Amino acid sequence: MIENKIIQQLLKSDSIAIVSHENPDGDCIGSMLALYIALKRKGKDARMFLKNNVPKNLRFLPAAEKIEVVDRIDEKFNVLVLLDTGELERTGIENIENCYSKLINIDHHVTSEGIGDLFYINSSSAATGEIIYQIVKLMGIDNDKEIATCLYTSVFTDTGGFRYSNTTSITHQIAGDLINTGIDFVYIINKVFDEMSLSKFNLLKDVLQTLELFEKNKIAFLTVTREMLIKNGASRDETENLINFARNIEDVEVAAIFIEEEDKIKVSLRSKYYIDCAQVAKEFGGGGHLRAAGFTSRNVSLDALKENLIKRLKSDLR
Ligand code: 5GP
Ligand code: MN
Ligand code: MN
Repeated sequence: MIENKIIQQLLKSDSIAIVSHENPDGDCIGSMLALYIALKRKGKDARMFLKNNVPKNLRFLPAAEKIEVVDRIDEKFNVLVLLDTGELERTGIENIENCYSKLINIDHHVTSEGIGDLFYINSSSAATGEIIYQIVKLMGIDNDKEIATCLYTSVFTDTGGFRYSNTTSITHQIAGDLINTGIDFVYIINKVFDEMSLSKFNLLKDVLQTLELFEKNKIAFLTVTREMLIKNGASRDETENLINFARNIEDVEVAAIFIEEEDKIKVSLRSKYYIDCAQVAKEFGGGGHLRAAGFTSRNVSLDALKENLIKRLKSDLR
């Protein structure tokens, strides 16, 4: 079994680095921390690297303060574990291709093919955290409250609180198992989903004003300009989930949010019932899941990008 091979490789390695994608989300951070804590329980020393800071609402997670935020890695590790993405470039970390002897890739994106010496890609898993849950269990670690807190965060965030169609009965079984360790899931849910800083609240007010509707309200766009972030003192990670306000509007099948960054535009896509977001994102150079995907565009104006995306989405509308 590939899981066992991955565990064997990890347990015989002296230096392990764990990385995940830029602009980290709950699944990426929860998976990283759970694997890190599990390796520590097994007497292994691992390190965790990310391009961006841990989002404020995830900083309560155990060992979150151990994540090192870096632009590049110059050290060399026996093993690099790439989580929640199938592309090294998505880490945003320079020189990452030279920092390991062996590469292990664990992910659940349909658009991931798997890279490295050992890979485990399961696109029927709702979250990378579901795969890490299996791996931790196979490592003989059960009933660990700290690991369960991280994995519950993974699964809860990537399923939109068990709402998205990637949710399965296995997801619920895993969540039940995690709850049985005695985790404070009410606190976790409040922290990762409901609570927001005043700066995010103020940003939300501005972003809601940007709503654009097309094609009999089946397509909804929101926009976050750099000025909005600066004016409200909001951080980039506080744009997470704003897109759901557009997706949730009656009649909307697909929503997009355009986030202006220094030299590029980050686009997130969410659909309700039938638009294949992963396919659309892939055509624009990105990837993701059936109902949640994204891409980044450079050297194109916001207006031109919006026009191109409307044209592409229109052809899939029913
Ligand atoms: P989000 O829109 O929240 O950034 O991402 C939604 C999903 O699409 C996530 O699973 C994320 O990993 C994936 N995704 C977002 N942007 C990109 C991208 O530029 N490339 C790829 N391959 N996947 C992306
Ligand atoms: Mn992710
Ligand atoms: Mn994920």
